[in-house]
Amino acid sequence: MTETIAAAVEVTGHLTKMAIAPGQGGGPARYTLRAGEQRLELNARLGRPLSLVWSGAIACTHCGRATKKSFAQGYCYPCFKRLAQCDTCIVKPETCHFFAGTCREPEWAERHCFQPHVVYLANASGLKVGITRGTQVPTRWLDQGAVQALPVLAVETRQQSGFVEMLFKEEVSDRTNWRAMLKGDTAALDLPAERDRLLARLEGGLANLRERFGADAIRVLDEAPVALDYPVLEYPTKVVSHNLDKTPEVSGTLLGLKGQYLILDSGVINLRKYTGYEVKVVA
Ligand SMILES: [Zn+2]
Repeated sequence: MTETIAAAVEVTGHLTKMAIAPGQGGGPARYTLRAGEQRLELNARLGRPLSLVWSGAIACTHCGRATKKSFAQGYCYPCFKRLAQCDTCIVKPETCHFFAGTCREPEWAERHCFQPHVVYLANASGLKVGITRGTQVPTRWLDQGAVQALPVLAVETRQQSGFVEMLFKEEVSDRTNWRAMLKGDTAALDLPAERDRLLARLEGGLANLRERFGADAIRVLDEAPVALDYPVLEYPTKVVSHNLDKTPEVSGTLLGLKGQYLILDSGVINLRKYTGYEVKVVA
């Protein structure tokens, strides 16, 4: 019996970020596009035509209300102004104002901010530092397109992770160069060696934080580095990005998946940026 080529599949709905599962046995990550309740397994669509059309509608990812514009990658304006998850202290956790009594949603903070966090080193386009809730490992790294990652410190709260990250930022970037990440020529790093070097340099600052938050609050981890692989047939030599707001119809041959990007032969598109957009995807 010959294997038949799967017919094109169509999914319609409001986008949420792609679900990315680590590959089995060192294989490439598994990508699932999510449009409303519908799902499209993307790995099987590599090398095939894909089209994505935005209807012009956007629904808030939190409340579902229609919104003309998306704020903070998927929220309506009222939610953007009201929700703790849209506050600036989420991006800059060291500015947490919970103890000033001004947290937008103290109960949400209890569940999300007052939880163990991890400070990690990753390599997506070179060495970077990052923070995430313990439960978001390795999802966070896959979302960023990191090819290597290493948890370095465990801390008790999001705010503490912000203070630790501030220290690391004196020595290392907290940004990914997404164009470089999508070119796929990131040189491998010795993350344990980088960790040891940085911990030695930042010893004084970490000691100060332990004095403030308690000796057990900020713990050095002894973990092995993680390697992450992505399903990519071909990386672009020049990275051109699609913008649905300007051109609501995108099509091309799907050449790869990395971070929250689709790599098409016609350009790349960051699907996370279009969270809440109502699309029809045919692949
Ligand atoms: Zn809303």
